[in-house]
Amino acid sequence: MTREQLTSQIKARARALGFHGVGVTDIRPLREDEARYHRWLHQGWAADLRYMQTSASVRAHPRRVWPEARSILVLAVNYYSGDFDPLPRGHGRIARYAWGRDYHDVIPPRLRQLVAEIERLLERPVRARWFTDAGPLLERALARRAGLGRIGWNACLITETFGSWVFLSEILLDVELVPDQEEARACLSVFECQRYCPTGAIAPDGLVDARLCLSYHTIENRGAIPRALRPKLGDWLFGCDVCQAVCPHNARVPITDWPEFHPEAGVGKTLALADVLAIASEDEFRARFRGTALRRAKRRGLLRNAAIVAANTGYDDAIPQLQRLACEDPDEIIRGHALWALQMLDPVRSRPILERARRDPHPFVREEAESALEGGGNGEAIPVAANPESTGEAP
Ligand code: SF4
Repeated sequence: MTREQLTSQIKARARALGFHGVGVTDIRPLREDEARYHRWLHQGWAADLRYMQTSASVRAHPRRVWPEARSILVLAVNYYSGDFDPLPRGHGRIARYAWGRDYHDVIPPRLRQLVAEIERLLERPVRARWFTDAGPLLERALARRAGLGRIGWNACLITETFGSWVFLSEILLDVELVPDQEEARACLSVFECQRYCPTGAIAPDGLVDARLCLSYHTIENRGAIPRALRPKLGDWLFGCDVCQAVCPHNARVPITDWPEFHPEAGVGKTLALADVLAIASEDEFRARFRGTALRRAKRRGLLRNAAIVAANTGYDDAIPQLQRLACEDPDEIIRGHALWALQMLDPVRSRPILERARRDPHPFVREEAESALEGGGNGEAIPVAANPESTGEAP
């Protein structure tokens, strides 16, 4: 079998296994992308994502990740499952990628199957390393070089058919394949992502400042969310889809045929804030969100986000739960954000709790109480309708 035949048969097998996009690239370093990546790091825009720093020297160098690599298969799976319905009162919104089952669990078995198919084609064992999102590689740059799509101003990879609603994976192989033509086109450059980003996190050069990005804060940030950003979460309980939802490349994308990513397979499109605020322990949190991407936020992160969304959406039914959390929760981040939400929802009746919190054992909570008593919401709540996702439609 020639290298061309092998490459084309591998692609056919990948499509038969359900991958919506498949491309091949070689193992040359990604020099230009590396320079951008280092600029992003040096600007401090990775926030406290330490793994981004620690893997910086290898990310643009596939051979440093695995010296035996000869080619890289880059694979895309569409996860688009439709739009939001009108948000029920007392609910918070989940980013689309997390509606169904966790892609970190769903995709790797099919990567393993594809490697087995390659072995069958070659009639010999092959050595391979595969990653879904969690690998130390500049995967969007590899996907662009493998011809899968262009990179948008919001730094997402944009495919022709599925827009940016795709999960990416890579298989590093010790087999020589024929690389695809790099995608040379730029995105449409209508800058809707920059215009509608609630926090202005997207710079004119297309770098995204994680310190401002709501996806970073609601998913990755393990500590306090800066007070000035809290109102800008709007109703986003986990993640943020705004810059993708407004992108014209993302209009008219077909619904994924991977049922694992449909909302019925996982947590769904929204969650009731009362249910989230009632989660009493890390064990209960893990049991509730096992097999979903929401695990990543941990109980601390999700309850913190729920307190903020309750305040932003004026959900005053949550006040008794927030009072209990502010007074009794063992986690200082949750206590502090519950205080902030109480001040936003009912500053007069919350005053005794805020006064008591001045004597909280943790300095973060004392500082939140002081700020709240000074009237410090630190930022006006933006109306939820300002969020284009709140209508379920991109403008
Ligand atoms: S995910 Fe949200 S906050 Fe982050 S860059 Fe996109 S629109 Fe802005």
